[in-house]
Parts: sequence; C-alpha cells; structure tokens
Amino acid sequence: MVSKKTKSKTKPAKPAAKKTDLIRDILVESLSEDHVKVIDKLNKAKYDEDIASDLDVKATIIRTLLNDLHENGLVEYDRSKNKRTGWYTYMWRRRDEKIRDYVKGYLSGKINDLNSKLNDETQNIIFKCSCSRVPYDAAMQSGFKCNECNAEFIEHNNSEVVDGIVGEITRLNSLLSQT
Ligand SMILES: [Zn+2]
Repeated sequence: MVSKKTKSKTKPAKPAAKKTDLIRDILVESLSEDHVKVIDKLNKAKYDEDIASDLDVKATIIRTLLNDLHENGLVEYDRSKNKRTGWYTYMWRRRDEKIRDYVKGYLSGKINDLNSKLNDETQNIIFKCSCSRVPYDAAMQSGFKCNECNAEFIEHNNSEVVDGIVGEITRLNSLLSQT
C-alpha cells in the first residue's frame, strides 16, 4: 500500500551524534523524558540511590522508572545483600545493545497500527455525526442517526485523515531507516 522509502544511493554516513539524538527523541516519545534522564545517567553502572541524588529526585521515583526500563529490557541489575542491614542493594546497568532493537520495535509497531488504520479508512465509506466517525455498516445499522448525539450520519470525506496517516507512516519509515 504505502511504498517503503527506497534507499537512496550512496549517502554520506550521518554523524554519530545525530543518530544518538534521534534514538533519544524516540525514547522520549515512547517512554518519557524522565525515563531517558535515567538512561542518560547510566553511562556507567550505578546504584538507584546514586541516580536519585544525581537527578535530585526521590529514590522511590527512580526505582519506578528503572522498573519500567527493566520491563522493556533496557536495563539490568545486580542484586547484593548488605550484610549489616540485611537489605538488598541494586546496581543498575544500561543495555546499550538492546536500545536500538527497542526503538526499531516501537517504530515498527506504530507503523503496523497506522497501516491497519489506513486500511480501515480506505476500505470503508466513513460517516460522521457531531460526536464520532463510523464506517458505513455501523451508520446504516442505526438508521443513519447517531444514538449518542441524535445527529444524522453524513458521509465524511476522509481524504485529509488518509493524508495524515500516510504522512505519519512516511515519517516513521524514514525514522526507522535512520535507526
Ligand atoms: Zn454522534
């Protein structure tokens, strides 16, 4: 449907810093700025308390962020028991080798979702009332009148919506090819 961006001839390699920025931006979009601040702090292995004091944030907040990152496979830890207190301490490490895969997976997932959305938009005649948009079948079943807002369903020219989705797919494919 949407042609994948063809690789252009021999492009000069992008400077490394640019690529790092790009990956960082995508991580912020998929997780949050706070998660990425924690990733940035893990340029070497650290205890969660140290990251907390570096960022001047409560350790409990840092642990929550680290757990999110761990669920996504972006960090790992070594646990050790403090013999004196009997408490466990956690030394965290960033998994640089996983970050690129994660970013690629995130972009691919979004592209898939958008492709099926695009499919819905192009395979259906879309109707619109005051509160929502529905495919033809749904509009017909309710007698072309919305049960929610009582307005009449009118055929909606969805070319702007389609253009928006196609534009977003193009943007994400371009990001994917650069990561
Ligand atoms: Zn409605």
